[in-house]
Amino acid sequence: MPVVEVLRLGHRLERDKRISTHVALTARALGAKKIIFTVEDESVKKSVEKIVNTWGGDFKFEVVKNWKKYIKDFKERGIVIHLTMYGANVNEYMPKIRDEFKDKDILVIIGAEKVPKEVYELADYNISIGNQPHSEVAALAIFLDRLFEGRTLYNDYKNAKIKIIPSKDKKIVIRENNEN
Ligand code: SAM
Repeated sequence: MPVVEVLRLGHRLERDKRISTHVALTARALGAKKIIFTVEDESVKKSVEKIVNTWGGDFKFEVVKNWKKYIKDFKERGIVIHLTMYGANVNEYMPKIRDEFKDKDILVIIGAEKVPKEVYELADYNISIGNQPHSEVAALAIFLDRLFEGRTLYNDYKNAKIKIIPSKDKKIVIRENNEN
């Protein structure tokens, strides 16, 4: 089964801690297998590891300084999609992307601040989630949800210490030690 990885390009150490953590958690919760950061931030790493440890699964966290090499190497086995408000509309390209995803991995790139021109050139697709500026978290969530057509909202994670039983009128939580 092909997999999705997310490359978070850039991260401003003080300003972006929370949003970068949200990018990683959104990637995990909506079906990606790995997040790659280009800037080291121990507190973001710890927050993500804590969620994985409690809520399960084998979501990977990696820091890669040479992101150009990472993208070029990835292209040997998959397609690279850069999410940008300047890109082609997701509505038009998603059927083609979903078709390629049958046998190729996907690397989704999202930015923190201005994204270098090279990224636009290295990407196989520059895709917009509408052509208005909004957020990398929103862009990533919509892209993944469209790609997986809602299926990953039912994901079950191995080795979870805590699980939620969906309910429209109650809060039902199952913990490893069976305490509610
Ligand atoms: N000002 C930056 C620039 O010119 O590249 C964009 C900053 S934006 C807050 C951070 C990231 O959110 C972008 O790099 C892009 O990945 C994502 N993003 C924001 N709006 C988007 C949209 N309409 N479609 C797709 N991605 C979007």
